[in-house]
Formats: sequence, C-alpha cells, structure tokens
Amino acid sequence: MFALVAQAFEVLSDPERRSAYDRGVVEGKTLREKPPLAFEGFDFAPGSTGRQGFRELFESAIESEGEAAQAGEDLEVTLRISFDEAFRGAHRRLSVTRLSPCGTCDGSGHVARAAEPCAACGGEGSTRVRRGHLVFRARCRECDGAGQRVQGPCPTCAGESRVHETEWMDINVPPGIEHGARLRLKAAGNAGRCGGSPGDFVVHVEVDPHPLYRRAGHDLYVDAPVSIFDAAMGGHVSVKTPDGDVPIEIPAGTHPSQRFRLRKRGMPHFGDPGSRGDLWAEVKLVVPAITDASSRALLAEVSRRLAEADAQTSHELEDK
Ligand SMILES: [Zn+2]
Ligand SMILES: [Zn+2]
Repeated sequence: MFALVAQAFEVLSDPERRSAYDRGVVEGKTLREKPPLAFEGFDFAPGSTGRQGFRELFESAIESEGEAAQAGEDLEVTLRISFDEAFRGAHRRLSVTRLSPCGTCDGSGHVARAAEPCAACGGEGSTRVRRGHLVFRARCRECDGAGQRVQGPCPTCAGESRVHETEWMDINVPPGIEHGARLRLKAAGNAGRCGGSPGDFVVHVEVDPHPLYRRAGHDLYVDAPVSIFDAAMGGHVSVKTPDGDVPIEIPAGTHPSQRFRLRKRGMPHFGDPGSRGDLWAEVKLVVPAITDASSRALLAEVSRRLAEADAQTSHELEDK
C-alpha cells in the first residue's frame, strides 16, 4: 500500500508524468512485439530533401504504440509530368497501398468474444498479495475485477486497427501547375489508429523543362529568330506558342534582344484556367550566309551607301 501511495505521490508531483498518467500511460508497461511490416508496392518519394520518410514515420508510430487514438500518416508520391501536361492539365491513375480501418473490428483493434474466465485471477476478480505474514486480496488488474474477459485483440489486424489495402487512385493535375508544387488530397493518406484522424495524400509535382519555352510565374519566354533584313526594314515573323504559331509584325529598326509581348499566350493561372499569363518573344537576329558573288556585291554596295549616308549626316551636324 505504501508503495502504491508513494508511486501515486510521485506521479502527482511531476506534471509531465501526471499528464501521461491522465492519458492512460502507465509506467513499466511493456509494449508488445510487432512483426516487421513490408512496404513494397508504395511509390514514395525518396527522402531527398531530408523529409521524414513514410517508413520512419510509420515505424516511430509503432514504437510509440498506445491505446489512445493516433492520427494517420501522410502518404507522399512524386509525379513527373511534361510541360504540355502542365499547360493543359494531367491525369494519372496510380496504384496506392494505404492503411485503412480494419473491417473486422471496425477500426477499434478489439473484437468481442465469448466470455471466458480471466486467466490471471482464475475468474475470481481478485488476486492474493502476500506481505510477510499477512495476505491481502487485491483487485485483479488484468480483468479490472470482472473475473472474465469479453474483449480480445482483433485476429485480422492483430490489434493494430488498420490493414493494408491497395486500390486505384485517380490524380487530376489542374492546368498551370508549377514545377515543385504540391497537391494535398485531404484524408486520402493512412487511416488513423484506433479512430484517429486520417493522414493526407501529398503529390509532389515535377514538370519537365521544355526545349523552347522558359517559364517565369505565369509568363513564358521564347526565342523569335528574325533575319537582319526583317529587323532593318520591318517584316512578319512566326512566333511559337503553346497554342500554335502566331504571326507578329516586326517594325523597321528592331534591334537585337528586343522583346515583343503576346498577351494571354502564356501559362494558365493555376485554379483559374480562364486567366493566362503573357508570352514574350525575344528577338534573336539571324545572319544569313552570303555565298554567291552577286549577292556579296549587292551587300557591299548597300554597306558603301550606308557609310556615305553616315558621313553626310555627321558633316551636316558639324555645319550646324
Ligand atoms: Zn482477473
Ligand atoms: Zn481488426
């Protein structure tokens, strides 16, 4: 009795242990050994960014096993899509294995069974405790004094309250998603233990780079090859956009690295596909190869006249 009082005093005087005691955690209780679970069939992202992986999460959940409800773990998957899929939206069907509430015990971990006498007290509800020459009768801890047990661990889930289930899952990636974005599907992760809330299903989206388009927010950048003749005299060029080629007018005197904005030809806004970013066509001057003699002579003549015109202009400026 003194030992019990002393233990109670210790528990009550220590706030941390007190709250643990209130949660039903009793010291000295050994945890049951669980067989190791296999996780093959999961398509998980490697812990490349130092995130805690599912396996670690789940193992730590098993280690801290208790009767209290525990929230389910998030499941994480990496989805690689093309630039075109990011532009138009993507659909994937994944085989997902998750822990679901056990159907046999309805997610409680226990099943009712035919009443049988408590093995610890032989059905009496109390046990004998000898202290020196004195013998006390104490209430049986195993059956809480009832003398019989009417609940046992569920045979299907071995008291875990959850079982592995594999099913197809449709993932729809909306248009406009950016590389590195995460989609969180609420409550689609592992079920909680003993009635705890379920985890989420998290999709890490990776978008392959495009050979032509560079993305900055909702805007896209693309090279627009323009010949030196069109740049000098003006002309029309065809600009590549995700919707197809779009002709634009190049004014005379266009210089290298000039940009032309094509409004609403960029990426759709994520969650608002009606809105679009812009596409910027960046002029890349193209110098044609002059191989025949007559073309060379013509260009030489153009060059001589331009030099003359330049000299004339500077003379006029000096005269003023
Ligand atoms: Zn008993
Ligand atoms: Zn069960």
